Amino acid sequence: MSHSSLPPPSESGPDPKLGQAVFYARVALDVPLPGLFDYCSAQPVSVGQRVIAPFGPRQLVGVVVEVPDKPGIEPGQLRPLIQVLDDLPAMPVDWLRLMAFASRYYHRPLGEVMLPALPPPLRKASSYTGKRSGGGPVLRLEKRLKKAGAIASGFSGAAGLQTDAHQLNDEQQSAVSAIAAMQGHGVVLLRGITGSGKTEVYLHAARKVLDMGRQVLFMVPEINLTPQLEGVLRARFADFSGGHALAVLHSGLSDGERLESWLKAARGDARILLGTRMAVTTPMPDLGLIIVDEEHDASYKQQDGLRYSARDLAVWRGHDLKVPVVLGSATPSLESWNHAVQGRYTPLELTRRARETPMPDIKMVDTRRLRLEQGFSPQVVEAIEQRLQANEQVLVFLNRRGYAPVLRCTSCGWVSQCAHCTAHVVLHRMQHGRARLQCHHCGGYSPVPRACPTCGDMDLQPMGRGTQRVEEFLAERFPDARISRIDADSTRLKGSAERLFSEVHQGDVDILVGTQMVAKGHDFANLGLVAVLNADSMLFAQDFRAPERLFAQLMQVAGRAGRHRAGAQVMLQTDYPDQPVYRSLQRHDYKGFADYALGEREALGLPPFSYQALLVAEGRELAQALTFLEQMRDLPASRPDTYPTLDQVMLYDPVPLRIVRVANIERAQLLVESPSRPALQRFLTQWNEDLFQAGRQARVRYSLEVDPFEI
Ligand SMILES: [Zn+2]
Ligand SMILES: [Zn+2]
Repeated sequence: MSHSSLPPPSESGPDPKLGQAVFYARVALDVPLPGLFDYCSAQPVSVGQRVIAPFGPRQLVGVVVEVPDKPGIEPGQLRPLIQVLDDLPAMPVDWLRLMAFASRYYHRPLGEVMLPALPPPLRKASSYTGKRSGGGPVLRLEKRLKKAGAIASGFSGAAGLQTDAHQLNDEQQSAVSAIAAMQGHGVVLLRGITGSGKTEVYLHAARKVLDMGRQVLFMVPEINLTPQLEGVLRARFADFSGGHALAVLHSGLSDGERLESWLKAARGDARILLGTRMAVTTPMPDLGLIIVDEEHDASYKQQDGLRYSARDLAVWRGHDLKVPVVLGSATPSLESWNHAVQGRYTPLELTRRARETPMPDIKMVDTRRLRLEQGFSPQVVEAIEQRLQANEQVLVFLNRRGYAPVLRCTSCGWVSQCAHCTAHVVLHRMQHGRARLQCHHCGGYSPVPRACPTCGDMDLQPMGRGTQRVEEFLAERFPDARISRIDADSTRLKGSAERLFSEVHQGDVDILVGTQMVAKGHDFANLGLVAVLNADSMLFAQDFRAPERLFAQLMQVAGRAGRHRAGAQVMLQTDYPDQPVYRSLQRHDYKGFADYALGEREALGLPPFSYQALLVAEGRELAQALTFLEQMRDLPASRPDTYPTLDQVMLYDPVPLRIVRVANIERAQLLVESPSRPALQRFLTQWNEDLFQAGRQARVRYSLEVDPFEI
């Protein structure tokens, strides 16, 4: 019947025993068990509705995914739902489809996909039960907003980006037109060198979509990129929805703030949702465009629980809703680049800097025959000196935080090890001249020993250097310079990253020492020199994606220089100046690098020319983890009839992880690979069931990751 959106009442009809109508609900719950759970209800329920269901002794919020005529178990064994939540309409069907896809593709139970995708207050039974929960979190939020007279904290001080719409150059204009001309679904890969004004293209494309009455989902990789962009978006789209067009979603928000943003987007009140990877699952009734900025960034990949790629889900969602998706980057992932090469994505290019400043000159400093002073070559020290004299800013980039990566005994060679991990502990300077040893893997720390624990010698020396030690050296060498350090340690307190960055923007800093945190998005107007200290440490990493990541990171760091002025320079210290990664970097040649790297991947049958999944097992002892993985490697061959695609799937031998032990847990991994995605998926569906059965007996924990990012 077309006049009713409600599902037809259950045919099971009135239950004579109970003397009232009985309805059945098949519910997804966030529990580590496969499958769905059936309940009965005296009240009608519809698909997509949230309910509170009893589960053992607990009460859990779940989502109704089916309303069956008959339950899957004896009706007498069904427990009744505790509450059918009606504070929100049923979750929309496209959201349910997205969840079902993620569950299938990543091989996780539907409930473990759906519930974590909701803001915490909407998935906790305690938000609704008990005396203090009056009306539930949605009602409470609305009351509070009404009382406060609503809303929206303005954000100003966006540095660098212009807040008023400005004239596009030809390249930007044709990119905007190409995006606007897309009918239905298509993926655009927008490759633009740093400073070429990708953001302007996004903003113009977004405006066209907003003008048509549709919503825009705008994704960025990291929280600390949101304030800058938030200010720009608020100013630029102040004419929409009385200035309340924007909602922001990231993990730095409180549960209440997150609920508020989510509701605004889900109800269509917010026309633009700006957010990190978690934003990709937010319902948006009028979604008309998805933008994924810095699409190559590792932050789009969730590293625990449901290990999804937000970029990949965004592409799927765009396809499902028939809306365009724009992936933007100066250094696209090789996966996306390959899609463009193969004609599946539309490539668009921005080759000119918006301000017409030349790309910075990149110079390799061959350190093989140089005497370094605290890791600095004479050339770099001299260049810093000159730039400071010219009143320009300097960025020293070093991807290692702390004071020194290890403490070492000069007489017996003892090195500081974590008691709980197979890793060195890092020497950190604290306030007031104190220091401690800190493990970057388990987070544990310990005091610095006065003497060597092995031989008793008092001469313990820090080896190598991190950002703190570099900062210390620079302060000695350039006593008049104002030096600031930006890394995970200096920005731990809420708001401190914003404060530090704004000091740099205001010109209160002469030398900035930073890790990858400074590489992304920030546009430092007065930056004349970027010095890169330890890039070589990433050159020979085990992971096959390491060169790709290194190239992207160096391009990004280099791109910080000279966006507003000519004559900027990047100096990269290396023992391997002839490495292809560095050679391409020097020429600002992404295509050259991508062709070379894709050629290598193809020759070795690595992604994107194959598809992978990674099974990681953890146990008290490595042997337990390895035994479990060996068992799982051998099982498919012993039951070939249940694994019809086994001949297209390669199971590698289990190996210990590079850092075997973290927090007293030992870990090993097993890589699965196939040239065919469907064959791999079919294999994984069966394997995942067998894993669940075997995992119950084995004394290990395991996780299965599809399209692993690091191996
Ligand atoms: Zn010693
Ligand atoms: Zn540790």
